[in-house]
Amino acid sequence: MSKAVLRVAQIIGVLVLAGIAVGFVVGLVQWVLAAAVIVAIPLGGWWLYRQMSGRNPKPAVRPGGSKTVAGPSGDRRSELEGRAVLDAAGRCGWCGSATLHKDEFGFPTTPLAHHRAEIDAMLGLRPRTE
Ligand SMILES: [Zn+2]
Repeated sequence: MSKAVLRVAQIIGVLVLAGIAVGFVVGLVQWVLAAAVIVAIPLGGWWLYRQMSGRNPKPAVRPGGSKTVAGPSGDRRSELEGRAVLDAAGRCGWCGSATLHKDEFGFPTTPLAHHRAEIDAMLGLRPRTE
């Protein structure tokens, strides 16, 4: 055997070994990914179940009748903002107007945007002046 042939055989051997190593690593990565997915699915379901069941047993109990004065203003705001929407007939839920509200440029605007100042005023905030 000449030296050149030995050299070529050596290179081929290294290449084959490298190919096996790469194939092994790729296979390992695929296996790890598959295992991660298999583990993540039931784990995710379990986590979701815990999130859901952890929130449910607490029904929002509100003292009926009396208006909560000291309550957070976010509640009152969302209540008022919930009224400033278009109903099924396209009327403004805030003022009952059947025509679409328009802003100062004549473009149609949402009831919420149109009555924002009134909502702020009812919340005790100063209306926005620009
Ligand atoms: Zn309106």
